[in-house]
Amino acid sequence: MATKLQVKNKILKSGIHYLTSDYKTRNESRSTHNGMDFVGSVKQDEILSIADGEVVFTGYDSGGGGYWISIKTNGIEHRYFHLANGTTKVKKGDYVKKGDVIATMGKTGNATGYNVHFAIYKNGYVDPKPYLMNDDPFNLYNCHVDDDDFTTFVKGVQSTLNANIDGLPGPETLSKTITISRTINNNHPVIKVLQVYLKTLGYDLGSYGVDGRYGPVMEKIIKEYQKNVVGLKGNLVDGIITAKRYTWKKLLKL
Ligand SMILES: [Zn+2]
Repeated sequence: MATKLQVKNKILKSGIHYLTSDYKTRNESRSTHNGMDFVGSVKQDEILSIADGEVVFTGYDSGGGGYWISIKTNGIEHRYFHLANGTTKVKKGDYVKKGDVIATMGKTGNATGYNVHFAIYKNGYVDPKPYLMNDDPFNLYNCHVDDDDFTTFVKGVQSTLNANIDGLPGPETLSKTITISRTINNNHPVIKVLQVYLKTLGYDLGSYGVDGRYGPVMEKIIKEYQKNVVGLKGNLVDGIITAKRYTWKKLLKL
């Protein structure tokens, strides 16, 4: 029984993604399954890159994957298997954009029918689902910030937290960070600095804009940041920027 998945980052051009076999479930002749299998609304849908990146492999996998492509984004590979023979539209060293057609769905290798086996490789295979469901799974917002915006942010943080102002974050800067939440330090001057920076990262501050207050919009943004950029899960996605901890570290690129 296939589940229809609403993804944020499409693999299939039709935009319809039926999950036929999930990560880590028994599949084909293997006891574990290192990716997710999808079929679309057409028999042989076109396969899209889920993110901007560099093609690091195209070829045939004799281990059962058939024709496949690997694209690397921020050190993480997204891999597409069982591609139709002769349909690969990219070659090693090419740069692709999110949504570019890279091949056509096939059934090469160990596939029982037309489908794409999608996998994420990050020093080993990991669950691909967050990479399909999150807005910015590869932290591209972070990388697209130019140094000027980041340096301005760091200097602003250092200035408002009474750290040495050199624009270079380190243990001394981190040691001066404070906890910020809806109820703690919720109008501290560092919040304005944070809001300006979050805006450059592409976050929508809503109608109040840069108001120097840690209200519901900021809480929502920080939760998104914790989930999608810091990579926190469950109760840790709390919208609280705790002194010296994960969210501060990520913001300061430490
Ligand atoms: Zn598979």
